[in-house]
Amino acid sequence: MSKDNDLSIPRTETPLKTKPSQPYTLIAPVEADGFSWPSLGSRVRADEDEEQEKQRVGRIADAVKVILEELGEDVTREGLLDTPQRYAKAMLYFTKGYQTNIMDDVIKNALFEEDHDEMVIVRDIEIFSLCEHHLVPFFGKVHIGYIPNKKVLGLSKLARLAEMYARRLQVQERLTKQIAMALRDILKPIGVAVVIEATHMCMVSRGIQKTGSSTVTSCVLGAFRAHKTREEFLSLLSKRSI
Ligand SMILES: [Zn+2]
Repeated sequence: MSKDNDLSIPRTETPLKTKPSQPYTLIAPVEADGFSWPSLGSRVRADEDEEQEKQRVGRIADAVKVILEELGEDVTREGLLDTPQRYAKAMLYFTKGYQTNIMDDVIKNALFEEDHDEMVIVRDIEIFSLCEHHLVPFFGKVHIGYIPNKKVLGLSKLARLAEMYARRLQVQERLTKQIAMALRDILKPIGVAVVIEATHMCMVSRGIQKTGSSTVTSCVLGAFRAHKTREEFLSLLSKRSI
């Protein structure tokens, strides 16, 4: 990574003494070791070897066994025998975005100098995330737009960035904001806008079953805050055949 691209702030340790609900107001999106709003245990997880990871899976599986028993299940029946292990591994996968290195794993060498100053939009990026309040999935589509200021990012990297933040325990509002703020810091663009449309399993599968409902969140920064630019972005998003 060249010096010019080094946007990080020095940081020597987790824990983050922050309110998790507002990480964006308290710490910079890219930290010295390449993490971006890591969780409390991100660094431990990122540094552990195979044996330590195995032990972690075992500890989670033991806890899942307790949950299954408390649900009144028979954990010795055939169908459930490997479920605790499977679930442990699935949860680690669903939260792998905490220890993804934003510059080395996500952005890599895809930051280019380019004299393009028109809006760039990538829409319909599929995401699967976990609602941090119920630990059940929410999923949907992310649309990202930005107006470059001499720097552009490889298009597939926008999807990688969304994926990284989605593979965490999230609330949709924060996910939207984190993608926008990371792009703002990395690209220093003239403006950036992120819209997410998602369906939350905790909403559609409980209580009054609002099966058709979806939640839309947006975060607009810089030039997108101006009415005309925002309108252009939204109208481009709604055009399905350009
Ligand atoms: Zn929920």
